[in-house]
Amino acid sequence: MKDTFKHKGMRQQLVDTIKKKGIKDERVLGAIGKIPRHLFMDSGFIDHAYVDKAFPIAADQTISQPYTVAFQTELMQVKPGDKVLEIGTGSGYQCAVLVELGAKVFSIERQQELFKKTSKFLPKIGYRAKKLIFGDGYKGLADEAPFDSIIVTAGAPFVPKPLLSQLKVGGRLVIPVGDSVQTMTLYLRKGEKEFEKHEFGEFRFVPLLEDKN
Ligand code: SAH
Repeated sequence: MKDTFKHKGMRQQLVDTIKKKGIKDERVLGAIGKIPRHLFMDSGFIDHAYVDKAFPIAADQTISQPYTVAFQTELMQVKPGDKVLEIGTGSGYQCAVLVELGAKVFSIERQQELFKKTSKFLPKIGYRAKKLIFGDGYKGLADEAPFDSIIVTAGAPFVPKPLLSQLKVGGRLVIPVGDSVQTMTLYLRKGEKEFEKHEFGEFRFVPLLEDKN
């Protein structure tokens, strides 16, 4: 599990690429520039780690495209110490970005194989989530609510109500909504019952799945 000078150089090029595509937040760019993405993929695929593309990981899932990770993270406006919830731990890459930004991260994954693999892997490379959970993201995590922000990293056919209700007032939910293509959507909780919705461009995610298997 090495991170070499060559990897760092490739990573800097990736940062330049996503900057050109419109990512501005320096802290987000800094996190992408720092995290060894190649370690989140099987070792045979190192050449794919620093191109701006999604890539298959275990259990038919994908590690999201770096631009998409940066885009969603930018919308979350994470501050150090924020309590955040991620739905879809997958490889743990997005989780690492959030940890790097100083967030206390809770992340839920419904595939046991990925949950186990990522639970072992993240601490090994020094990224500690507050808690990784094997469970159903549609329900959110009522025990730990409310959250400063919530990110969904799979395509949701609809917005799960628990996720909206588990936001702090002033909190942000970033969720790609749609079936085959998703619209990146930001919900701002303005009051107990008041939400503001903003839509961004189209993205493609693996589906947020309901009940297991
Ligand atoms: N954030 C991940 C991207 C993973 S892809 C990364 O950085 O690598 C989306 C993930 O969502 C997959 O791992 C998939 O198993 C998971 N997922 C799908 N439906 C889910 C659900 N209902 N609850 C929790 N996780 C879910």
